[in-house]
Amino acid sequence: MSITIESYPFAPYRELSNAELCSRIQSAKQQLGSSLLILGHHYQQDEVIEHADLKGDSYQLSKLAAESSDCRTIVFCGVHFMAETADILANRPDRIAIRGGERVRVVLPDMAAGCSMADMAAIRQVEAAWDQLGDVIDTNDLTPVTYINSAASLKAFCGKHGGIVCTSSNAKAVLEWAFKQRKRVFFFPDQHLGRNTSLKMGITNEFMPVWNPHEEMGGNSRDAIDSSKVILWKGHCSVHQMFQADHVHSFRKRIDGIKILVHPECPQEVNDIADISGSTSKIIETVKQSPPGSKWAIGTELHLVDRLKKEHPEQEIHFLSPLVCMCATMYRIDLAHLCWSLENIVVGTIVNEIKVKEETARWSVVALERMLSVK
Ligand code: SF4
Repeated sequence: MSITIESYPFAPYRELSNAELCSRIQSAKQQLGSSLLILGHHYQQDEVIEHADLKGDSYQLSKLAAESSDCRTIVFCGVHFMAETADILANRPDRIAIRGGERVRVVLPDMAAGCSMADMAAIRQVEAAWDQLGDVIDTNDLTPVTYINSAASLKAFCGKHGGIVCTSSNAKAVLEWAFKQRKRVFFFPDQHLGRNTSLKMGITNEFMPVWNPHEEMGGNSRDAIDSSKVILWKGHCSVHQMFQADHVHSFRKRIDGIKILVHPECPQEVNDIADISGSTSKIIETVKQSPPGSKWAIGTELHLVDRLKKEHPEQEIHFLSPLVCMCATMYRIDLAHLCWSLENIVVGTIVNEIKVKEETARWSVVALERMLSVK
């Protein structure tokens, strides 16, 4: 749910130069002091992330923001589900009690900054799938697992049904936990992360039917569902889906000694032949720890790869795809939207507030806490 009450309308901000916007952003930050936290996701464009107080992946950022004692407003330069997670974690009942009953307000500078992957698993589709599966298998045997890149309503669904959230860093440990609870997993919304992780655990594609929400029984036979170990939701990241095995072969042919480093949201054909597959944090850490002269072709969001190139001129870093693979929705957060949302906060108006319903937040926390308990 969002609340938008504009004191300053957005349109005039479009006319301002970047220099003017930067100087006004700095001034708003100074006026708001430690009551404001600007969070910048790793995939965010440089000119925006320069103004962030904290940089990280979605979960790291939300957790850090929730731990802050001074912060009263979070401006999340990321996408919608990230702002929802920040709202859920920062406004847990124990955190609100510490602040004497005060909520942290979470702002997404542009409401059009969604995530195509999260949008592929609408809660109504998920509930309908769960009901259909109940005709073939006992859903008490099924643990729902959702990647953190999902709507709060899906996290809450997992919380209510004995399920859990995972990140790309802990997906394997979370799946191991899930199999200790029940014999099957329903994995949302990214089929690639679900498949790549399950393959590492020795589960073959034969036991991983893909559930297409637009087809009866997800497009599967009853036998395929009955013998399944992991049912994969038919979702993907439009950015990471673009990387192909041919891109890997082409780099290996052209550059001697090059290593391929990819995110597990990439398709199986790419993950299987990469040298290293890991989360955004692992990609950053791998480059940071590598000696000068290392050669990388990296398969993840373009802005992050370009930043790594700038930060590590002592290494040879290439973008794995010949095409532009960037998170177009995150890119919607620009200096104009950031400046507009900050100046409204200064005058006491919260625009584009992300506020998760209490019941949804409560069940989402259950699923998130289960994740935190997994070591
Ligand atoms: S990179 Fe992919 S998963 Fe991440 S926010 Fe963008 S569309 Fe969603």
